[in-house]
Amino acid sequence: MNAFHTLVFGRRFQTLPAALFRQVEPTPLADPYPIIVNPALCAELGLDPDSLYTDAARAVLSGTSLPPAVMAVAGAYAGHQFGHYVPQLGDGRALLLGDVARADGGRAEIQLKGAGPTPFSRHADGRAVLRSSIREYLCSEAMHGLGIPTTRALCLFGSDERVARETMETTAVVARVADSFLRFGHFEWCCHSGRNDLLKELVDHATGHFFPGCRLAEQPVLALFREVVARTARLIAQWQSVGFCHGVMNTDNMSLLGLTLDYGPFGFIDTYRSDFVCNHSDDVGRYAFNEQPRVGLWNLYALASALLPLQDEAALRSALDEYEGLFRTAWLARMRAKLGLDVEHEDDGALIERLLSALESANADFTVFFRRLCDFAATGSVAVFDGVPDDGTAFYGWLEQYRERLELDGGVCMRRACAMRRVNPCYVLRNHLAQRAIEAARDARDYGEIERLARCLAHPYDESAEFADYAVPPPRDMPAVALSCSS
Ligand code: AMP
Ligand code: MG
Repeated sequence: MNAFHTLVFGRRFQTLPAALFRQVEPTPLADPYPIIVNPALCAELGLDPDSLYTDAARAVLSGTSLPPAVMAVAGAYAGHQFGHYVPQLGDGRALLLGDVARADGGRAEIQLKGAGPTPFSRHADGRAVLRSSIREYLCSEAMHGLGIPTTRALCLFGSDERVARETMETTAVVARVADSFLRFGHFEWCCHSGRNDLLKELVDHATGHFFPGCRLAEQPVLALFREVVARTARLIAQWQSVGFCHGVMNTDNMSLLGLTLDYGPFGFIDTYRSDFVCNHSDDVGRYAFNEQPRVGLWNLYALASALLPLQDEAALRSALDEYEGLFRTAWLARMRAKLGLDVEHEDDGALIERLLSALESANADFTVFFRRLCDFAATGSVAVFDGVPDDGTAFYGWLEQYRERLELDGGVCMRRACAMRRVNPCYVLRNHLAQRAIEAARDARDYGEIERLARCLAHPYDESAEFADYAVPPPRDMPAVALSCSS
């Protein structure tokens, strides 16, 4: 284990043409203090977690002062926001410090989110509030625990410095980690700025570092795009399988690597609603839960358009045509696993669709239902669902179809239940749980709840008596927390 101060920051992204970024010094926050450190991610980076509490680490990871060797940059990108093209977005409050060695021999980039304004801040303050930083920290680690590709969170520093949102709120900096933070929007920015030279450089950078197989392909741009199509389809299938709604699927928030990126007003579904909208500012439900697969395709169209200067349209279109099949296959595989079905049957898709509509009419909690289904698959007893549906007609009707379907697959058994418990989480980051941790941090400087939630969500498939309170849905009469893009 190495101490933080020994970390050497490379400039892999910073060696790209200078037009793609601006060098920016972070603007220090007043008296930053550590809130949480991620020991598991420290281990992946070969770092001693205790060393993140030193002054040297705080200076860098809170954005107070950087060693001269670190060249922090804000990247230029564009994007389609709620369907409208915005030519100049860019890292308005994120700074890339550079890339560091992973213990497994790879490299990881570290960004600070909330470290002050950049030339891309567009009159905003470059800050992130404590509330949204806690949510990003917890959710990125929750997604990782679920096995869903995501950016990670290394640590969180808070400050009593306040900024104006709907009210005045205290601020924080999250140090986040990913192989790369490349977004669809980076490519859109190059294309729409008429900089085909930069577009080409960016594609070479991506294929060289992150998609080595594509670089050797006959048509590297097409190979890259096909890979991004496949990763996006798989990612969104995984979101759908755990009831995760991203909330702001603008193309600038879409990762080229197929990671869940930019945690804002996201939400996990409690009581199942196919048209669940977690983003309070999304009046028309553009990014509703059941729209996510379609939006993934829409966003890939935007990326394909940006790649047109480098690749013929027919080839890009044929890659786009693969998306729906890839999504459906990945989604069916996930949902079959959730139902414990080993052998494929042509009616499985219809069985799953009927289940989702039964869950909706039963007002059932999404996560609790699937976890109880594991118990049902072990015993065949409908009593395991006591209290889950509040209107049982369609629900119990479906269960009988499922029981018959299981017979085709060998019937109820413990082995099946065990396999199902490895794909149906007991714990997800429900909004009210995140809110409880936020309130303790905000009102009492008590970070124990963040730490406890993070510890639980690192192993969401392992049921534990210690975390029993995290496994239950919020009380039905609890008002939903309103979450918007402002954070
Ligand atoms: P988001 O909706 O968080 O994905 O952000 C969209 C764009 O607004 C990105 O270019 C962000 O960098 C920028 N942005 C969001 N919040 C801030 C802020 N507080 N200060 C500066 N830029 C911001
Ligand atoms: Mg964003």
